[in-house]
Amino acid sequence: MRSCEVLIVGGGPAGSSAARHLKRAGADVLVLDREQFPRLKLCAGWITPEVVRELEMDLDAYPHRLLTFPRLKVHYGRLSFPVPCVQHSIRRFEFDAWLLERSGAPVEQHNVREIVADGDGFIVDGRYRCRYLVGAGGTRCPVYRTLFKEANPRAHELQIVTLEHEIEYRWEDPDCHLWFCDEGLPGYSWYVPKESGWLNVGIGGFAERIKSAGQDIKTHWAHFTDKLGAELTRGAHYDPTGYSYYLRGRVDVVRRDNAFITGDAAGLASRDLGEGIGPAIRSGLRAAAAILDGEPYQLEDVTGMSVASIARSMLTRAAHPFGPYGRRRAADGGAADGLRHGNQ
Ligand SMILES: Cc1cc2nc3c(=O)[nH]c(=O)nc-3n(C[C@H](O)[C@H](O)[C@H](O)COP(=O)(O)OP(=O)(O)OC[C@H]3O[C@@H](n4cnc5c(N)ncnc54)[C@H](O)[C@@H]3O)c2cc1C
Repeated sequence: MRSCEVLIVGGGPAGSSAARHLKRAGADVLVLDREQFPRLKLCAGWITPEVVRELEMDLDAYPHRLLTFPRLKVHYGRLSFPVPCVQHSIRRFEFDAWLLERSGAPVEQHNVREIVADGDGFIVDGRYRCRYLVGAGGTRCPVYRTLFKEANPRAHELQIVTLEHEIEYRWEDPDCHLWFCDEGLPGYSWYVPKESGWLNVGIGGFAERIKSAGQDIKTHWAHFTDKLGAELTRGAHYDPTGYSYYLRGRVDVVRRDNAFITGDAAGLASRDLGEGIGPAIRSGLRAAAAILDGEPYQLEDVTGMSVASIARSMLTRAAHPFGPYGRRRAADGGAADGLRHGNQ
């Protein structure tokens, strides 16, 4: 049996952030992930300045594709307006692998199935023994399922259904566009350019509300991509994949004995925009601090709304109207290799 002080289930942004913080403090930590990294992760790949700050990222030194937007283009019905604020795009398979490697923690590929309490610690699948257990396995996290599901049942009205595709495409418009409530979609659609000729397009909305309106996500997708094809993505072909996750609801219990729950496993994505990378990172860091310093594990400062972060970024942008903001490159500025999004 492999023993460690802290076992982290899941090597996404929540798990790798917790791992890095613990490892830097000298803790004996092990990350388990069912996938081999780099792994595919369905995501628009939009990150905020808060994410950059929390991760202590040097944008110029980031070794993969990163694009900076000095504004968002927002569309609502017939209204279209720019929101001057700084945001960035990355490709998730690169970003997550980079974060996990940077954590310095050992990683094993293992699909966690069974978690059993053992004194003040846990035994996982009869193979791993730990004192502390961090659940960072995303929506289907086995730590959530075993230890937290009863205390924090997921609210069906907060379930989001999505369709997206990241394609190799020589985009011409370098701005990030968001369309809210288009054709009655209870959510929004996005066009997110990536550096070096990649583009992510997708839609997401409340599953129950789409169903009760007698609609389905595929019809919304068809409408959206027809519209894009006429304006921004002429000649593009899509083969979208769907994924479902939960927005921030009541999360009453985030720690049970020496087990912690973080990121999507706890359902922390923001209520307004479904932004989950920032909350995952922050909750991972808070869980690590609680383990190291014995601080209470609280998620009060893990905001459930993205609009506050956008407003802060607007103020910073207004104070520094000419930047520098980060990286802004042409669509064709480099190699266009990478993993194709497939089923997940
Ligand atoms: C279509 C779509 C677009 C999105 N766009 C954005 C965006 O642009 N910006 C943003 O901030 N958020 C976005 N989100 C949300 C964001 O992707 C998530 O909130 C974020 O990835 C959560 O991070 P996490 O570390 O909690 O979980 P994850 O990133 O899901 O990582 C969990 C890890 O756990 C592993 N795992 C799962 N089960 C097991 C198991 N049994 N054993 C071992 N390992 C396991 C998985 O392989 C995975 O690597 C989007 C989500 C979707 C679906």
